[in-house]
Amino acid sequence: MALRRFSHITTVFLLTIYRAISLVSVGWPDTLPLGLLDLDIVDKIHLDLNTTTQFSIDYGQLSQAAPAAVYCPSSPDDIAALVRFAYTSPRYFTIAARGRGHSVRGQAFAPGGVVVDMASLGRGRADRLNVSSDDAPARWYVDAGGEQLWIDVLHETFKHGLTPRSWTDYLHLTVGGTLSNAGISGQTFRHGPQISNVYELDVITGKGDMITCSREENSDLFYGVLGGLGQFGIITRARISLEPAPQRVRWLYLVYTNFDMFTRDQEMLISKLEKGFDYVEGRLLKGKDVSSSSFISEEDSEKIKLLADEFGAIYLLEGAVYYEQAMASMVYQELESLLKQLSFVPGFAFTKDVSYIGFLDRVHEEDTKQSSTEHEDVLHPWFNLFLPKSRIRDFESAVFKGILKNNNPVGLLLIYPFNKNKWDDKMLAAIPDEEEVFYTIGLLPSATREDWEYLDKQHHEILSFCHQEGIDFKQYLPQYVTETDWMKHFGRKWDVFVQLKRRYDPKALLSPGQRIFTTPL
Ligand code: FAD
Repeated sequence: MALRRFSHITTVFLLTIYRAISLVSVGWPDTLPLGLLDLDIVDKIHLDLNTTTQFSIDYGQLSQAAPAAVYCPSSPDDIAALVRFAYTSPRYFTIAARGRGHSVRGQAFAPGGVVVDMASLGRGRADRLNVSSDDAPARWYVDAGGEQLWIDVLHETFKHGLTPRSWTDYLHLTVGGTLSNAGISGQTFRHGPQISNVYELDVITGKGDMITCSREENSDLFYGVLGGLGQFGIITRARISLEPAPQRVRWLYLVYTNFDMFTRDQEMLISKLEKGFDYVEGRLLKGKDVSSSSFISEEDSEKIKLLADEFGAIYLLEGAVYYEQAMASMVYQELESLLKQLSFVPGFAFTKDVSYIGFLDRVHEEDTKQSSTEHEDVLHPWFNLFLPKSRIRDFESAVFKGILKNNNPVGLLLIYPFNKNKWDDKMLAAIPDEEEVFYTIGLLPSATREDWEYLDKQHHEILSFCHQEGIDFKQYLPQYVTETDWMKHFGRKWDVFVQLKRRYDPKALLSPGQRIFTTPL
């Protein structure tokens, strides 16, 4: 027995040495210290060009930056070992957790450093998704690994008749990735962004410490990590609040030709926290963007297209009401009377009943269809802003009717409001300071490389317009490069941001792709 154990240890030792030698001989990158190979995590490190190339691009396809290595942890301990090693290593190298790389500007890149492929912790793995409850106060929650996709969180919680309350439009994003930003969608007006719906986190800091944090325990880290752009730690578990899942959804498209009426109705709907819509979004559509879908028939899409051509553009208010099958007729009646208070174009209300999961996962179906027709080299120069309610009219005149007037690759253009009191001001996610209601504007085109230059110029024009007009705007999923811009972005929260970085990632190892801190503090 002892002999067998000895020979096992010898084999493992020799294998490690052999791997180390072969890694060096295939060219261990200069940027990484050889000491990494002494860790027992060596077989989780991938240096081959195929893998590093795969992790050098993201959904945006606007830039490319190869890591020296990709790390595939099988547990949070593996991640902590890597970060601890980097923290104590005399040779500087950065580390980026990568959810699924759905960023558009290289936010999950680690140029010359190590990308942690969070997916290898185990997508959909039962032990990384646990639904449970507390008695006092009574509350249901799911403990989800940071690498888990929201679609898997939905399926798991739904088995228990439960669901998270706040979503993104697209559910094939990771828990850690969206919680590092905010996580917004049509439910945000009612429940706040996803970061407002978290009870507790497990985080690995930039020193390699594993810390559990919540509003009560290590609260500075908790508030910092939620919306903190990956700067203070890697989320390995999030405890997310749950509520009973509805069975059905009444889904509506209401068409407007008048922007003021469109926004007035959106604002009225988000002020109704009882017996109103459960989801409110909106978008601008030009005639050429109108097409039939699983929602809009060929005939109705022609009707909408004609209207959009006549007015140059139309506004589509997208709403949803959740309900239980047994309550259907009462809900329909209440909805009818609510619709009477709205000012959409008569005859231009479209409704559909779908399952709750079908509604939440609606974008994936469209995305899959689009991906199958899109070329591989399609770029996504997406650009998102938050604007105070009082300036939305100015923005519409100058941007939708001005700067973007002749846009060819308009793509999806989202416009919908939030209630500021559903955002926790202690969290570092940046939102406009001044007003109780603010809008999100999402310009989400698919573009060729030639289009991109033109769109990039437009985004700069939009930012210049906001600056000139003194609009208190913030970028969502921000894409700044200079420290001055980051300071402006975080505004009064900047000092706290720097203090937290000093405390939890003083060597600036984490999420270098955000380009906030480029050297140790
Ligand atoms: P990545 O892009 O891989 O990472 C994003 C950042 O977070 C990086 O800086 C990374 O280092 C860091 N990070 C990743 N995982 C962790 C972790 N576990 N701990 C700490 N830091 C981490 N956003 C919305 O809010 N609402 C939407 O409706 C919405 N819809 C989208 C639809 C599509 C098709 C796409 C492509 C994106 C959409 N987004 C939306 C944006 C999305 O929230 C961001 O792309 C986000 O970064 C999540 O993507 P990801 O999980 O792939 O993370």
